[in-house]
Amino acid sequence: MNENALNNRQLGIEQDASLLEFNTLRFDYKAEYLAVVSSLAHLKALLQWANDANQTVTMIGGGSNLLICADVSGLVIINRLSGIQVDVQDEANVMMTVAAGENWHHVVEYAVSHHWYGIENLALIPGTMGAAPVQNIGAYGVEIKDVLRRVQVIHKHTGEQSWIDGKDCGFAYRDSHFKGKWKDTLFITAVELSLKINAELLLSYGGLVAPLDDQSTLLSVFERVCEVRRQKLPDPSFLANAGSFFKNPLISKAHSQTLKARFPELVSFALEENVKLAAGWLIDQAGWKGKRHLGVGVYDKQALVLVNYSEHKADALLALEALIKQSVYERYGVLLEREPVQLPLSSHSESLS
Ligand SMILES: Cc1cc2nc3c(=O)[nH]c(=O)nc-3n(C[C@H](O)[C@H](O)[C@H](O)COP(=O)(O)OP(=O)(O)OC[C@H]3O[C@@H](n4cnc5c(N)ncnc54)[C@H](O)[C@@H]3O)c2cc1C
Repeated sequence: MNENALNNRQLGIEQDASLLEFNTLRFDYKAEYLAVVSSLAHLKALLQWANDANQTVTMIGGGSNLLICADVSGLVIINRLSGIQVDVQDEANVMMTVAAGENWHHVVEYAVSHHWYGIENLALIPGTMGAAPVQNIGAYGVEIKDVLRRVQVIHKHTGEQSWIDGKDCGFAYRDSHFKGKWKDTLFITAVELSLKINAELLLSYGGLVAPLDDQSTLLSVFERVCEVRRQKLPDPSFLANAGSFFKNPLISKAHSQTLKARFPELVSFALEENVKLAAGWLIDQAGWKGKRHLGVGVYDKQALVLVNYSEHKADALLALEALIKQSVYERYGVLLEREPVQLPLSSHSESLS
């Protein structure tokens, strides 16, 4: 064995490794190099290795917001950093510091089981703590930014660690600087969440209100969120998917008024100067719900979710995406934007047709 191979082995680096089990769409592409990391020291050594070998580095958590379209060159790091630290600050506030590789739903369960409020509406979102701020995960009227105090990051090239305040992370609807200007330089290693020991439950979201009454508790809201999600969304362990495939589009008020005149049932929400449309409704009304294309399709209970029944590669899904975007554009003049992150970033570009 030569020196390089020995060094790679000591660092747990595998060459030409399949990414099949690391993405919930279950596409079978390869990583040139792959390592599963469970300690900060190991992460730093891997970053050093990549720098010395002049290799790009990509981090994957649960792979539940990824669209892998080709083999990924460079080093792919699977984040399994673990640990939760709790600091009860006073009778009203708790600070939870969670390592980036922790499973997000387990973090929610942990908080609910200790009667801490703030993230119960975000139950059952797949993936890791570290990826949650990347697209500012949200559900049922709550976003991670509402409870996020700081994120701990490591610089890809220098290995230096620092903390960034939540207010400086550029959080927006399914967006943050981690998807933008920081995507090539920073990885998240831990997140500080600010939770409440007693707080109001947020029940304003339609899907939660109906079956709940004044007796709602933290636990009943958590259970209701899990129940609604299990009814509506496919479990990736049984049917491959990456959750919502498209973002809800923002359009101007004038455009929405024109659409409302033509489609009185249009589902829309006012958002400051703009109007947000329900992408699932647009796709459903364009006739796509339950439709199949080769081995992929549109989920029959939620048109926003594209599922993979039997494909090993992304081509059929990319073709279905293009067909849906084209048809929604022709019908409503609205361009849908993809939600999952594409890997590698330089492969097939997202286009209308
Ligand atoms: C059934 C289903 C339901 C879903 N429901 C929701 C929902 O209700 N709301 C919602 O917002 N999302 C939802 N999602 C999307 C997904 O669960 C979230 O985006 C989640 O946060 C992704 O976590 P992950 O660990 O799987 O990230 P990955 O898919 O592994 O990575 C996503 C992106 O983050 C980057 N990344 C990962 N870890 C780090 C890190 N530590 N530091 C820096 N960058 C990192 C990756 O490089 C990639 O660009 C759903 C997905 C599925 C399959």
